[in-house]
Amino acid sequence: MRFAKLVDCLARLEKTTKRLEMTAALAELFKGASEEDIAPIIYLTQERLGPAFAPIDFGIGDALAAQALAKASGKTIDAIKKQYKTKGDYGTVAENLLKQNDGSKLTVKKVYDQLMQIATTSGEGTVEKKTDLLADLLNKLSGAEARYLLRIPLGRLRLGIGDPTVMESLSWSKTGDKSLRAPIERAYNVCSDLGEVARIFKADGVDALEKIQVKVGNPVRMALAERAKSSEDVVTRLGKCAIEPKYDGLRAQIHKDGDRVRIYSRNLEETTEMFPDIAEGVRKQFKAKTAILEGEALAVDTETGDYLPFQMTTQRKRKHGIAESQAKLPLKLLAFDLLYADGKDVTRVGYQERHALLDKLIARGETLEVAEQLVTQDAKLIEKFFMEKIEHGLEGIMAKRLDSPYQAGARNFNWMKLKRSYQGHLTDTVDGVVVGYLRGRGMRARFGIGALLVALYDDQQDKFVTVAKIGTGFSDEEWPQMRALLDKIALDHPHARVEAVMEPDVWVEPKYVIEMQADEITRSPIHTAGKIDDEPGYALRFPRVKGFIRADKKPEDATTVAEILRMFKKQGSQRTENE
Ligand code: AMP
Repeated sequence: MRFAKLVDCLARLEKTTKRLEMTAALAELFKGASEEDIAPIIYLTQERLGPAFAPIDFGIGDALAAQALAKASGKTIDAIKKQYKTKGDYGTVAENLLKQNDGSKLTVKKVYDQLMQIATTSGEGTVEKKTDLLADLLNKLSGAEARYLLRIPLGRLRLGIGDPTVMESLSWSKTGDKSLRAPIERAYNVCSDLGEVARIFKADGVDALEKIQVKVGNPVRMALAERAKSSEDVVTRLGKCAIEPKYDGLRAQIHKDGDRVRIYSRNLEETTEMFPDIAEGVRKQFKAKTAILEGEALAVDTETGDYLPFQMTTQRKRKHGIAESQAKLPLKLLAFDLLYADGKDVTRVGYQERHALLDKLIARGETLEVAEQLVTQDAKLIEKFFMEKIEHGLEGIMAKRLDSPYQAGARNFNWMKLKRSYQGHLTDTVDGVVVGYLRGRGMRARFGIGALLVALYDDQQDKFVTVAKIGTGFSDEEWPQMRALLDKIALDHPHARVEAVMEPDVWVEPKYVIEMQADEITRSPIHTAGKIDDEPGYALRFPRVKGFIRADKKPEDATTVAEILRMFKKQGSQRTENE
């Protein structure tokens, strides 16, 4: 196909915002394309040289465009820049400068190949070479062609052709309607490459798309979850199902091919470089030679081993200083699904079986763990699991249909998410009494103290009831000081006025008051503040200590249960819906 034909279509698309007209124009273009042209056409209309997951940078910015235009038109850079200032777009400048050029005979393939050559030029004198190649290309094009050509690498087409429009147009190009959209979409969900899907569709027809299978190295568009209203809702829809914690981190799809490991984010961007610890963990701990697995990447507190909040995990999503941030915030991968292993596509195998296979393939180690699971159809047990997870600072739970296949790119009731539906923000601080401490893991094990068990005062019953396990806020100097003070008041049993479900390593007399800041108050079955019979108590979410000991306060001056209940209610009235 001539490049001019693609340009005609782009000009048509530019004039409309109506989806149906866009679909018709694209369908016509696709109809006229050969097997060889179709993928380049799709990539170029989406301002790319390949699928989104394997970005090939054009390496053409404004400066290079200006230089190439100067070269192609014989004008000075200053003159080009002046025109750009008035027109605001190098495409229009190019059209104006090259309007006397004849229409070209270049094919789409030739233009694509030359852009690819520009993109892959490297080494000494790169800028020179790229400029020459672009100027040469521009000189072979008519003004209108140059206008659109230049807009492609500069990301200035502004046509809004999304994947759904391309898929629908492909269907229209064969049948005049959208009836083939579903098989096209299935194929796309599995391989994430619309150019490749279109090529197969063009060459061998819709039935050939069936044969597209998951492949190591091609990210698979990820399965998503529907919302659940409650534990009962989960049981009604799924019956006996697998319940897992909903870890609050970053979705990772991992492709392993021997020692080559690639990691993709939820939107299929490659993030391997950012997470070398996960890649290394997979190399060390994953027993299959080739595999595609999924899980949630989560930052952990090196001292307590606790999962850290999402905001901390996202700090790992940066391109610089990776080694330092890796040391400060190591990641764990909580694996939950397996799509492919040792040459076998297992996406059609039921979830429970995939999960079991996954479990078998993970060797013990520091980085990879299989997601915890509870298989049940008892709404009460689901509720209990949910409460426990919330208490541990997680977002909620995921419920999965036991016999469900992995449905790439689909959001349906095979997976359901049940989240804490509201999120508040606690501005008040809370004063608590230390009633025990935990020894802690990792770095903090050397202090022999890693977290405090803290209680509120129940003035009705004159008791101390726990509200938080707190491991953040003290410095490396303060932890040993705290331990020395607490060891002096240690007990070998809980103090008679202390009521707790959680067991610390060392109980202490309720004596020292500390001030805490938290994100919000949540309900929790493992804390006793406000707990009545089987009902859960109240707890602080993401608590951290402010200052050291409040020497001015007695234990009975700590925040009371009645106050926490008022704060919880107030928080409720200020809540905004999370999603
Ligand atoms: P949402 O982003 O709220 O739609 O919830 C879905 C996301 O939860 C997934 O994309 C994962 O990143 C995350 N997630 C956390 N834990 C799990 C789990 N056990 N199974 C599946 N997804 C999980």
